[in-house]
Amino acid sequence: MNLKVLLYTVFITIGITTASHWGYPDLDADEAFPMWGGLCDTGTHQSPIDLSQKGALKAEYDDLDFHNYNRAHTGVSVVNNGHSIQLSKFQYPMKLERGPLLEGYEVEQIHLHWWSEHTIDNVRYPMEAHIVHRNKRYPNMTMAANFKDGLAVIGVLYHVSNQENEAIDTVLEYLDEVKSYKNMNQEVHMKRPFVVRDLFPTVAGYLTYAGSLTTPSCAESVTWIVLLETFPVTMEQVEKFKQTECDGGRKLKNNYRIIQKSNNRPVLLVLNNRTGAAAPVGVSIGLVVLAALLARFLN
Ligand SMILES: [Zn+2]
Repeated sequence: MNLKVLLYTVFITIGITTASHWGYPDLDADEAFPMWGGLCDTGTHQSPIDLSQKGALKAEYDDLDFHNYNRAHTGVSVVNNGHSIQLSKFQYPMKLERGPLLEGYEVEQIHLHWWSEHTIDNVRYPMEAHIVHRNKRYPNMTMAANFKDGLAVIGVLYHVSNQENEAIDTVLEYLDEVKSYKNMNQEVHMKRPFVVRDLFPTVAGYLTYAGSLTTPSCAESVTWIVLLETFPVTMEQVEKFKQTECDGGRKLKNNYRIIQKSNNRPVLLVLNNRTGAAAPVGVSIGLVVLAALLARFLN
């Protein structure tokens, strides 16, 4: 271990130790948002921020490449870590490439925030899923969190609907087994298959910016990719997550961090035009072939 790595490890260990009792305020009781210490209080590239579509810079990248996100994983681990409900230990490695990313990133874990962390044009949504990826160049999350290009997180926002979100429903099926604070950090393995793409069936476009983890250590190592399109969730589904317990059996009624200063950071707006254009071309070729066949048949 070289000196740099050793120092990072010591630094991270201290960070984790001092931050182990952090939490969210009870907004119903009008509690103020606490200081979490370290970079959370002193950083200049913190997350979440408000994402303004009008204020964003237009950008164009190769389409994001999702490997294995459509596969059905069994035995996915579900944990109440006292701050969220988190999924990990996926059966197949899922890799994210291209878009604004210069290297390949692999899914480490997925967790949920009830009330979204990011707001789009100052609108807060009832839920946000974070799909956390580690740059494959780094061997683990701790190391990756020390570098600007260490992590990439996809943020998926959900809007209120009467239509239940199936992927979230699958997670909820295991909530009763993990929600008590007595079961905190105890894994339950999903028996039902879980498909990550069911959390965000389409990608119409996204807003991307350089930010941080939204929980301590608040490391400024995240390329955020927040999808523009929101997906349906019912209020009943959201309410169920509020039964999750944290330290001392207190209910985790909300687990979002308040909006941070943007400090004039550029936010890029990437619209995925190609998907929209590809379908009609495919359809019209299909129609031409069909018309040709019909003409032949009728003759
Ligand atoms: Zn998160």
